[in-house]
This record gives sequence, structure tokens and C-alpha cells, in this order.
Amino acid sequence: MSKVVLITGASRGIGRATALLLGAKGWSIGVNYASNEAAARETAAAVGRAGGHARVIQGDVADEASVVAMFDALVSAYGRIDALVNNAGIVAAGMPLADMSYERLKRMFDVNVLGAYLCAREAARRMSKDRGGEGGAIVNVSSAAARLGSPNEYVDYAGSKGAIDTMTLGLAKELGPQGVRVNAVRPGLIDTEIHASGGKPERAAVLGAQTPLGRPGTAQEVAEAIVWLLGDEASYVTGALFDVAGGR
Ligand code: NAP
Repeated sequence: MSKVVLITGASRGIGRATALLLGAKGWSIGVNYASNEAAARETAAAVGRAGGHARVIQGDVADEASVVAMFDALVSAYGRIDALVNNAGIVAAGMPLADMSYERLKRMFDVNVLGAYLCAREAARRMSKDRGGEGGAIVNVSSAAARLGSPNEYVDYAGSKGAIDTMTLGLAKELGPQGVRVNAVRPGLIDTEIHASGGKPERAAVLGAQTPLGRPGTAQEVAEAIVWLLGDEASYVTGALFDVAGGR
């Protein structure tokens, strides 16, 4: 029986690359997106070509009803859920905290923190052995920003990822006895469209060149770590914060 995973924010970037790798392993994948339906459909088609199955599932992770509906749609399509990749996330324009609006701060924490917690909650409800589940794995996509702090750029984003790290540590202990492993990857400067959405499309290339490995990472390089953490190869790994940051 193929394994079933929900990947939030799988239409583009790291989520998409993870979907393609898991598709090649024959997994069934819920390809969640927020607004870019065409990209989500393209990802789902590529998963099919790679050898997996995919369902496109629209939903804003910051909205509780949407999150519950996303999980219900996945389980009704495939009959089970074995894994969650808590990947959806946003940045915003770089600026000091003193210049950030309430609306920006609220959206940052609603999507990156509340959204990740809601998705982890729904996964815990369905995968915990005491609740009728069969166990599973969660990988949270944090950021090197959680330990760097991102001063003068986005301390809000960095703090939101710090919350993801802390959630990973607590939930790994809470869900270990339930047969659910919980880990995080902390990407560094990865070449995706997220930097353009923060107003700096060249950010990964410019800052990536200053890292010990001398270049930005690719979405696939992060996806490889996520897939490893999800798989049986990582069966004794839980509560890990795994840097994929080129030494940054
Ligand atoms: P990306 O290319 O901008 O893709 C973001 C994805 O998240 C898209 O699929 C987008 O859907 C989805 N999304 C955004 N808001 C959402 C919401 N409210 N509900 C559901 N889906 C939503 O980003 P990325 O670079 O792959 O980043 C993925 C994760 O890695 C994020 O958590 C990010 O913080 C983290 N990360 C990235 C880097 C980096 O350098 N790229 C570094 C460290 C950490 P639509 O296509 O519908 O917009």
C-alpha cells in the first residue's frame, strides 16, 4: 500500500520538489496550495509522471476550517494519512521591526505559526495510535533564520520559525509514544520564488555566494533531507532540527 502525505505549499519551491521525490517513491500526495492553482495542477501532473498519485487541495493554512477540510479531503481520497510536510510559509519585505505594520505581523504569525500548529494538530489527531491512527511522521520546514534572527530584514519571520523549532521539540516528545516522529529541516538560502515575494529576487544568489559552500541551495537539496526524515531510514530520528544551509 502506498504511503499518503499532505504537503502544505506544494505548488512551488521546496514543497513541489518534495512532492516530486515522494512521487518517484510511489507515494500518494495531497498537493496543497493557497492561490496558484495552475502551479499546483502542474505539480500534481509531474507527481503522476514520476510514478506517484496526487490530489490538488486548495486551502489557506491560517484558516482552521480550511485546514480541517484539507485533511478530510486527503483521507477521503486515499483512506489514510501517514505523513505531514508542514512547509507552507511566507516572508515579507525586509525592514526593521519598528517599521512593520500590525497587519504584516499578524499575517506572518497566522500563516507561519498558527498554520503550522493547526496542520500538526490535525495530523496528530489522525496519526496518533491512541486515537485510532497507525503512527507516522511530521517534518516541519523551519529556517536557519530561527537561529540567525534576521535583524533589519525580518525578525518577525525569524521568530515565526523559532516557534516551529520549539513546536518540533515539544511535539516529538508528545507524539513519540503515539508512533509519530516529528522533525524539522532548517533551510538556508534556497533558490525559490520566496525571495521575490519579499521584494529581493536576487537574495539567494547574492547571499548564497557568501556561505561556506559558496552558493545558494536548491529546493531539491532540501527535499532530499525532508524525504529522508519522513522515511524508515530515519526510524530512530525524532526531535531533530536538521540544517540544510550550506554551512550558513
Ligand atoms: P515559495 O517558493 O514561495 O512557495 C511557497 C508555497 O507556500 C507555495 O506553494 C504557496 O502556495 C504556499 N503558501 C503560501 N501561503 C500559504 C497559505 N497561507 N496556505 C497554504 N499554502 C501557502 O517558498 P519556498 O522557498 O519553497 O518555501 C517553503 C518553506 O521553506 C517556507 O516555510 C519557507 O519559510 C521555508 N524556507 C525557505 C527558504 C528559502 O530560501 N527559499 C529558506 C528557509 C526556509 P501558492 O503557490 O498558492 O502561492
